Amino acid sequence: MRVVGFGDFQGLKGPVHQERRNLQIAKMKKIFPNFKESDIMSENNCFRAMSPDDMPLIGQLKGHPGVFINTGQGGKGLTNGLGCGDLLAKIISNDMLSPTEEKAKTYCDPIRFGV
Ligand SMILES: Cc1cc2nc3c(=O)[nH]c(=O)nc-3n(C[C@H](O)[C@H](O)[C@H](O)COP(=O)(O)OP(=O)(O)OC[C@H]3O[C@@H](n4cnc5c(N)ncnc54)[C@H](O)[C@@H]3O)c2cc1C
Repeated sequence: MRVVGFGDFQGLKGPVHQERRNLQIAKMKKIFPNFKESDIMSENNCFRAMSPDDMPLIGQLKGHPGVFINTGQGGKGLTNGLGCGDLLAKIISNDMLSPTEEKAKTYCDPIRFGV
């Protein structure tokens, strides 16, 4: 079982936030009374790459022809991954985009951050 929660602005190398960890453990004990701390196999921080406007960066990098990115998915990358991957594939292949895809391409263009 994987227990996740909380988001902080900190790098991957920072320690696990003890107060937040203890809150999660308290909740686990409430939901699963048989749960013991000795059951915990590992604890770590995870990285959620996100952009200042909470929209992903999908498209070609400025000044780097042929280099395309699909990143900054924040906390929605699993949900949006297939659609974003499909959009990126169409951008790379120069496929015809639907009006909705055209909008998504514009909103997600990395150039909005100058890259
Ligand atoms: C705790 C947590 C819960 C989440 N819950 C949800 C959720 O419920 N729903 C949802 O939609 N999204 C969720 N997300 C977000 C989702 O997991 C991410 O948006 C998604 O995984 C991003 O996919 P990615 O392929 O862009 O990056 P990643 O999944 O981070 O993949 C990047 C890969 O590149 C590898 N890599 C990095 N550097 C190098 C290098 N130099 N050389 C080779 N390989 C390298 C990494 O090891 C990694 O495997 C959650 C994220 C976290 C952290």
